[in-house]
Amino acid sequence: MTSSVWHPFTQHGLREPIPLVERAEGAVLHTADGKSYIDAISSWWVTTHGHCNPKIMAAIAEQAGKLDQMIFAGWTHEPAEAVAAGLREIMPQNLTRVFFSDSGSTAVEVALKMALGYWHARGEARHRIVVMEHSYHGDTIGAMSVGARGVFNQAYEPLLFDVATMPFPAAGAEQAALDALEAICRKGDAAAFIVEPLVLGAGGMLFYAPETLARMQEICTQHDVLFIADEVMTGWGRTGTLLACEQAGVSPDILCLSKGLTGGAVPLAVTMANEAIFEAHWSTDRAKMFFHSSSYTANPLACAAARANLEIWREEPVRERIAVLAKRQAQWLDKLGSFCHFDNARQCGTIAALDLKTSGEGGYLDTLAPDLMAFFRERGILLRPLGNTVYVMPPYCIGEDQLADVWNAIGEAVISF
Ligand SMILES: *Cc1c(COP(=O)(O)O)cnc(C)c1O
Repeated sequence: MTSSVWHPFTQHGLREPIPLVERAEGAVLHTADGKSYIDAISSWWVTTHGHCNPKIMAAIAEQAGKLDQMIFAGWTHEPAEAVAAGLREIMPQNLTRVFFSDSGSTAVEVALKMALGYWHARGEARHRIVVMEHSYHGDTIGAMSVGARGVFNQAYEPLLFDVATMPFPAAGAEQAALDALEAICRKGDAAAFIVEPLVLGAGGMLFYAPETLARMQEICTQHDVLFIADEVMTGWGRTGTLLACEQAGVSPDILCLSKGLTGGAVPLAVTMANEAIFEAHWSTDRAKMFFHSSSYTANPLACAAARANLEIWREEPVRERIAVLAKRQAQWLDKLGSFCHFDNARQCGTIAALDLKTSGEGGYLDTLAPDLMAFFRERGILLRPLGNTVYVMPPYCIGEDQLADVWNAIGEAVISF
């Protein structure tokens, strides 16, 4: 029987096999035909402590016996309050307010609306959003507008709003990129700068230095441009620290979190804001409230999962696990990065990436990616290269042997392609 499911980022016309997954634990997915796969990309960057983490699963089950879902406009519940309080403890101290939504894209939409609402309330004509070249912030129309333009959004391009773009601060070209940001900010019409701290994920695992991130924030502060950190992917330890911003000593005005917020178990997002942004919306006038909601805002089951994730960060040696994984990734990169088939071996915390030299055009549609994916799948490994960029971003619980299997398959791949 053929399936009616329309999959995301999938070209059904290519009729590539679509494995049917039945269950998962730790770093492994099990399919209905009895095979298993090492999940080397954390199921698209969400899974942090491993699949079906017992504490998170138990928290969801317990919550399911009490309260499933309820309106969050003007009502509240205990799991949401606990998550907000827990985030306040570990996130930058200036971020005093926690707004819930459902995904990374909605967290970004909320951030943009908060920033624009802030300037609107102050009666200042600042409407421009500033972005970084090659960035990715999600697939809704607003999130696409602040992301890189390309084959992904060609069809919608006429409807995407205008932004000002600073160049990517590639190694050696940082000063030019910072100068460009400063020139944009100096114009006085910029409401906010939104950026992925240290790692541009979907843009091809591009890394830049913490000092550059710190300089970008300085420039924004100097020119009164709100600084939005999109840590949807980089948050929750991926870059070696809880937040990537930490490495630069940066406290953003607005922070977007999702993916690892629930340990990657269920969808949930937050947009955290500083007090000035909250206050700009504070009034006795109902016309000035923050007009945003989604039906499932702060779903109690999702909040219970996020609360369990916060407990895991508090009680378990998560940071040590991350440090060990980062060290192993470095060793593997060391071993393979010098192969003549690879370019640009790079690492940021638990994320390791390298570019396969290709005869194709490079970029996302490089024909190498689907062939590589199939190659890895045959070897029981879930990897999903971005064009010719192969990267490994595993859950922190991945075993030494499992990681070795992944890297050995990558080593094998360069010989075969
Ligand atoms: C994944 C991602 C998003 C979008 O999150 P979704 O939950 O897929 O909507 C936004 N920003 C960054 C940096 C991401 O990596």
